[in-house]
Amino acid sequence: KWGQLKIGLLKTVGQNNYTTWIEPLEFEHLQDGVAVFSVPTNFMGNYVSQNFADVILYELNTAGANVQRVTFRVSANSTANPSPRPVPEASKAAARATEPTASPRDALQAAPLDSRFTFDAFVVGKPNELAHAAARRVSEGGPVTFNPLVLYGGVGLGKTHLMHAIAWELRKRKPELNVLYLSAEQFMYRFVQALRERKMMDFKVLFRSVDVLMVDDVQFIAGKDSTQEEFFHTFNALVDQNKQIIISADRAPGEIKELEDRVKSRLQCGLVVDLHPTDYELRLGILQAKVQQYRDAYPGLEISNGVLEFLAQRISTNVRVLEGALTRLFAFASLVGREIDMELTQDCLADVLRASERKITVEEIQRKVSDYYNIRLSDIIGPKRLRSYARPRQVAMYLAKQLTSRSLPEIGRRFGGRDHTTVMHGVKRIEELKVIDGQIAEDVEILRRALEA
Ligand code: ADP
Ligand code: MG
Repeated sequence: KWGQLKIGLLKTVGQNNYTTWIEPLEFEHLQDGVAVFSVPTNFMGNYVSQNFADVILYELNTAGANVQRVTFRVSANSTANPSPRPVPEASKAAARATEPTASPRDALQAAPLDSRFTFDAFVVGKPNELAHAAARRVSEGGPVTFNPLVLYGGVGLGKTHLMHAIAWELRKRKPELNVLYLSAEQFMYRFVQALRERKMMDFKVLFRSVDVLMVDDVQFIAGKDSTQEEFFHTFNALVDQNKQIIISADRAPGEIKELEDRVKSRLQCGLVVDLHPTDYELRLGILQAKVQQYRDAYPGLEISNGVLEFLAQRISTNVRVLEGALTRLFAFASLVGREIDMELTQDCLADVLRASERKITVEEIQRKVSDYYNIRLSDIIGPKRLRSYARPRQVAMYLAKQLTSRSLPEIGRRFGGRDHTTVMHGVKRIEELKVIDGQIAEDVEILRRALEA
């Protein structure tokens, strides 16, 4: 039964995804509405559950199974990538025994890269152009100019995508380089495992032999003291050898609580660039690019620009959510044999649309900003030109432009009837200041997060 369903998924997820992620899944059992699958590695389990749980669930239910949830767990007899989850002692020993002693090279090849995450597939827009340019630069594999490169930004904005793209590009251009990509979580697991198995020397040799080290989601090691310590030493050893390091984090290094100061300051020594929340244009561009890819998988299914614009308008800044919506739309339309129009979109995405309904308003921004700077709301909106009011006002205008879909004249109106050129000037001013004035950059960032929370 699962065998047949799998084939159905081939159509939904495409050949590449199918081979990489779906093919290796094994159905274990169904109990109390929970379908359990086994996967060879923990990484795969996480990936599949993040990216394909929806479609699998959907496919199961359309086939008549009554499933509420799907879960993935590492199969105990897997010999690939020792899993960080507790597995029975006997099989763990067996796995270890059959495993050839890995050379650094082998270990590196074991780190899976998503074949979809290439530069070609990355849509560039204003919110991510700087991060993209920096990623491109390090992917050339030329002399190290900034070290580390730190990419930070909220979830689903393309950090992992850019890192994989760098790795792909480096493999192509400089196959002789030892490129190691892993998540901070995997770094910790490997470290802990090395400790447990008394293989710290191997660990150190492995990590000090790479030419390019990429650690994704570094915020994960915050508060994990010995891992941070080891990370710090690895980091220093590589920087001393002039090896490129690329890090991602979900917020600016300075804002990661429980990250040691020395690690913070190391991270801040390089080039720190942020991925801003997507804007409407970028979202539309991404949707158009994705639709292009779906053409092969779903011949004959068309989606109008009207629907794409609607999705770009209404769905959150998180690209993963946007993609998920589109995937679901195509899968749904092809299954029920209907064309993708507004009605189908509303039906099929009702839950997603409802979830992203919470819109940030200009008023909310003004309130938060005035609280933050400890001034009165009326001073933000009012006519006073004092610097201590003017700057917060500009910050609020900037955030209004970034976080709401209001036009400049509309924003001006909400700031005591100011002209749109005043708003534009304010937005520009903050954009400039963010670059040269760390305090402003931090203020804006904190406020943005507070508003988006
Ligand atoms: P993050 O690591 O920042 O949480 P990811 O890199 O995993 O985000 O991106 C989430 C999803 O959105 C991925 O499928 C990725 O391919 C896609 N994505 C993000 N940004 C872009 C972009 N600019 N162009 C195309 N796809 C994107
Ligand atoms: Mg990521």
